[in-house]
Amino acid sequence: MHHNQKLPSMGTVICTNCGITIDTLPTQKVTTYYSICQHPHCRKKGHKHNSNYNFM
Ligand SMILES: [Zn+2]
Repeated sequence: MHHNQKLPSMGTVICTNCGITIDTLPTQKVTTYYSICQHPHCRKKGHKHNSNYNFM
């Protein structure tokens, strides 16, 4: 076992609302997780299929 070896961060956590990368996880293969980021615009509403990313 390679205990000291760091895994590359191939796991990505993406906000389902705005699509930004929230975090990366050290996984052995490319994996995408979906969550909600910390932005108030995303947190207040889960599912809103709106193409206007107007929080900026
Ligand atoms: Zn978001």
